[in-house]
Amino acid sequence: MKLPRPLSHSSISLYQECPRKYRFKYIDKVPEKPRHFFSFGQSVHLALEFFYGVKEPTPPPLKDLLANYKDIWVKAGYRDAAQEKEYFDEGERILKAFHKKHSADFHVPFFVEYAYTFEVDGVPVTGRVDRVDKLPDGRLRVLDYKTGKKLATGRLEVDPQLTMYQYACETLLGAEIGELVFYHLPTLKEHRTVRRGAALVDELKTRIVSTAEAITGERFDPAPDEMKCRWCDYKPLCPIFKDQYAGAPVPAAKAAGEPELAALVDRYGEAVARAQAAREEAEKAGRALSESLSKKGYSRAFGASYEASLEREVKWEFLDKKKVLSVIKGAGAYDKILAPSAPLVNKLLEDPASDAGLRAALAELGERVESPELKIRKL
Ligand code: SF4
Repeated sequence: MKLPRPLSHSSISLYQECPRKYRFKYIDKVPEKPRHFFSFGQSVHLALEFFYGVKEPTPPPLKDLLANYKDIWVKAGYRDAAQEKEYFDEGERILKAFHKKHSADFHVPFFVEYAYTFEVDGVPVTGRVDRVDKLPDGRLRVLDYKTGKKLATGRLEVDPQLTMYQYACETLLGAEIGELVFYHLPTLKEHRTVRRGAALVDELKTRIVSTAEAITGERFDPAPDEMKCRWCDYKPLCPIFKDQYAGAPVPAAKAAGEPELAALVDRYGEAVARAQAAREEAEKAGRALSESLSKKGYSRAFGASYEASLEREVKWEFLDKKKVLSVIKGAGAYDKILAPSAPLVNKLLEDPASDAGLRAALAELGERVESPELKIRKL
């Protein structure tokens, strides 16, 4: 399958947390419940976008900032009016303190809410950086606002989100990063670190490419974990918990007098069931056809409406990726393969134009695995 949408830091993290959860959210498109902490974070981010979104080096007055905050306040996901008020007041407290501190050192940022899209080894990647400033020496400073009560500062040095921001800004804006910052808004504290080195950037690229390979290879096994499953909205749909939910009483939209909602529930449920059944049937028929073609020694066969062909897809598998990288670097071919992702190393090995010594050295490290790839087209 194709990627359902460009990868982002959060979709990659979601896939790594649980591939089945990724499928529910991005492929089956089952919406999650709104959460008050996301709504709160979004409201404060929008208010700061207003604060810095001016064209002249004069900050908007506090009363305008607070009026804007009231207008854009995101209400979804709060337990009740009392909880919503508690968070609204906390947001006001943060904005008043932020306004006081940063009206004094106000500057127009290089970018506010910088939206980026680019490709890593052919994999589309997208995201948004809260703020990008230009430092006096021409380098860039990337800021990520955090609104949670506590901030895990231990991850500042390795957090892949900041690595992704660095990579995107340096690739697209053409200037080097001088500083990466987690700005903890409840305490107005900036946690700063220096530019990431090549190892973390390479690790990020490998993470992007391997996640894309797993998604396009339709690997969506559930990864149960007590803490994560406890808060997962997809638990009632998840195969791991299906017995737990069988026969459980649920509010019936039909019985509650909401026929449109009931019809939508059924329409959606039937569509998901049909898609699932079709996927399973296609896998079963594909396996049987592939085995039959292999047994008969055929590479092509015709039905009344379709033609099927069996092509050999060659893959090289490596255990020691570090050695592979050092061999490629030693042969001066690193620029052809910026990250040692499996598809690019495969391409290098199968390309007759590649350096013969390099191909021989890589072949020593890997094992050539041939697997049949079934293709089908409408006649
Ligand atoms: S309930 Fe657990 S295993 Fe199932 S989708 Fe959610 S996180 Fe994954």
